[in-house]
Amino acid sequence: MRIGYDLRDTYEKGSGIFATKTFTKGDRVMIGVIGRELKENHSHASQIAENKYILHAGLISKINHSCNPNCGIKVNDTEAHDIVARRTIEIDEEITFDYSMRNYEIKFFPKKCMCGSDNCRNKITGWKDLSNEKKNEYKGFAAPYLLELDKKRLKTAVLVK
Ligand SMILES: [Zn+2]
Repeated sequence: MRIGYDLRDTYEKGSGIFATKTFTKGDRVMIGVIGRELKENHSHASQIAENKYILHAGLISKINHSCNPNCGIKVNDTEAHDIVARRTIEIDEEITFDYSMRNYEIKFFPKKCMCGSDNCRNKITGWKDLSNEKKNEYKGFAAPYLLELDKKRLKTAVLVK
């Protein structure tokens, strides 16, 4: 399979990943490979379990966040995140996903979100800060442990009450 993306400069957001061929919904745009495990969460970290953070090898860590992303996350057999198209992606379109699809909590992006989409949340937030509507919209394109954490939190909240 021909690689369908490359790294380019964007005007406002530093570098980003762009499609070099057309993708249709469900296509695997990039295959996730774990580069190394991290001791803690940080701005390039991908969360792969409740307390497990990794850095992806290759260009996946260069993908910019969008609040209206054309891609999502699917966990593959190695626990890494494949980047999967949520809709048709045209040649030269920037590949994006929502960072909340992989990280429960995000506290590393204090600056305003630069994604420029109509539904921009203004701040890059984690899964725990998404509305239920947004969580539904991302169903199947977010890491499954985020849903598990939601369930767990819900249980704890009920117990505390
Ligand atoms: Zn945004």
